Amino acid sequence: MNRRKFVAGVLSTPFVLSTRAFAQAPVFIGDMHTHSFFAESKYHFRPLAKAMASGNASLIAWSLVGDLLWFDVKTYKEKSKPAPGETFGWFQRELNRIKGHIAEQGLSTVRTSKDVDLALQGKPHVLLSVEGASFIENDAGRVKSAHDAGIRQIQLVHYTSNSLGDIQTSPGQHKGLSEVGKRVVTECNRLGVLVDLAHCSEATTKDALAVSKVPMVWSHGSVTKAKSPATEGPVWRRRQLSLDLAKEIASKGGVVGLWALAPDVGRTVEGYAGRMLELAEWLGEDHVAFGTDINGLGLYATMKEFGEYKAIIEHWRRKGVPETRIAKLAIGNYARVLKAAMDART
Ligand SMILES: [Zn+2]
Repeated sequence: MNRRKFVAGVLSTPFVLSTRAFAQAPVFIGDMHTHSFFAESKYHFRPLAKAMASGNASLIAWSLVGDLLWFDVKTYKEKSKPAPGETFGWFQRELNRIKGHIAEQGLSTVRTSKDVDLALQGKPHVLLSVEGASFIENDAGRVKSAHDAGIRQIQLVHYTSNSLGDIQTSPGQHKGLSEVGKRVVTECNRLGVLVDLAHCSEATTKDALAVSKVPMVWSHGSVTKAKSPATEGPVWRRRQLSLDLAKEIASKGGVVGLWALAPDVGRTVEGYAGRMLELAEWLGEDHVAFGTDINGLGLYATMKEFGEYKAIIEHWRRKGVPETRIAKLAIGNYARVLKAAMDART
């Protein structure tokens, strides 16, 4: 038998075929924090269904920026105070536009944990989330309006101070989570909305950990081994989570997402993939997920397209990362915590 015939013979055996089929099985992706377009004036033309398919992404949190109009996008400082009702109006308008794009794209949104199961099987779903719940103002009852409108993940705070609690990047005024903030966490638990702690000050995070009955996420950022994050210097250093606090989130079953921010994780997707593995060593493989902040980091983004998830999975496979760990980091951990929050609904 010549070499060509021999190779052809080996490749045609069922065993080899099934091994190859296994090796090529797509790994579906969940991402706890992405954006697609922001203000009315800036439409990021990214047909979402195609973009998601390019990376096998099937569980994407699309985050509406709840305080976008009230902070300076270059300095991340508050630039004006919203008038009463203004943040709620913005939230409703922006959410309608997001939902319009999702409908136009023929994509499904995550409403129940059954939808999360479908996403785990590869059927693309978008999870509606909000970054900075300024729209609540002083009315925790608005969690229900948000839930009724399809929101399933609420990040309590962002770059402007709101009535819920203190943030990482400016001095606090509530000494942690406010009474309204506590009611919001309780409402989220009751309705089955995942609470996102990203941007919360240390005190706010600890208060929320004490109040919440279900695991929560820190959707995007990174972890520092320093005792506490920097209080000055680049904003991203102030946005970090101390390892101790990250471990507290994990010990309650929660998940920490790593952002793809070049000054922090480096310019290459391989660098990002390596940092994910490092974080999994620090917190345990059940407590880390994607939180890329894709389309939200501008010039500082390590990842610009959903298609780049594939290079991360390939990198992990080349490094010999077990498939079970890849599945957890890629989508499983986010799916688990999301289902836990939704199923705890009372
Ligand atoms: Zn953010």
